[in-house]
Amino acid sequence: MTTPTSPRRPDWRDQAACVQQGEPEDWFPHPTNLAAIDAAKRVCFRCPVMLDCAQYALTTRQETGVWGGLSEGQRYTLTKKRRVHLAGPDRIRAEVLRVLRPEMDPVTRLEDVWERSTRPLPGGHLAWAAGTAAHVKIRGVTYTANQLAFTVDRGRRPVGMVRRTPDCEVVECIHPKHLEDAQERELRRKLDELGVQPRPVEAVAS
Ligand code: SF4
Ligand SMILES: [Zn+2]
Repeated sequence: MTTPTSPRRPDWRDQAACVQQGEPEDWFPHPTNLAAIDAAKRVCFRCPVMLDCAQYALTTRQETGVWGGLSEGQRYTLTKKRRVHLAGPDRIRAEVLRVLRPEMDPVTRLEDVWERSTRPLPGGHLAWAAGTAAHVKIRGVTYTANQLAFTVDRGRRPVGMVRRTPDCEVVECIHPKHLEDAQERELRRKLDELGVQPRPVEAVAS
């Protein structure tokens, strides 16, 4: 009989990339923490047992965390709407790959989309290129212009709303250095309270 102290039989978990990398809580970020979810997914996409892990999470109805590259919301859709947990292993794996393939696509680079979608404005500001859709979908993730600008420049997903900094008064400006997310806004307010002068934004004509 198996007891909690008995060693378990070897299985897919022995090759789990998350065991070697990071802390267990890194795979259980808050559902609104998109940057942390993205970071966990990136490790999953290189994990040799991603499909086993996803299948396990779907069939055992794991509700929280990132499993097999799937977020909570993606698993919810796969189980509640598409009922894949009741399907055989082949269909489960096919559905997981269908959902994840756009996110795993290494061809679409955020930087390339950014380059194509922007145009310069006088005074060193930048605007979204005319005729370009207001949102872009890259690797399964939808970005507004502000979110794309921020992510390309900072190398991380924004926390909360991305808005112009008070230094830039050009309404349509999406210059990444003229934008800040909620985390940076909070930091700026704290620095203001302490009387510390933040760095001036780049490329704004005086
Ligand atoms: S797919 Fe992700 S969560 Fe699953 S074992 Fe691999 S790294 Fe861990
Ligand atoms: Zn600007």
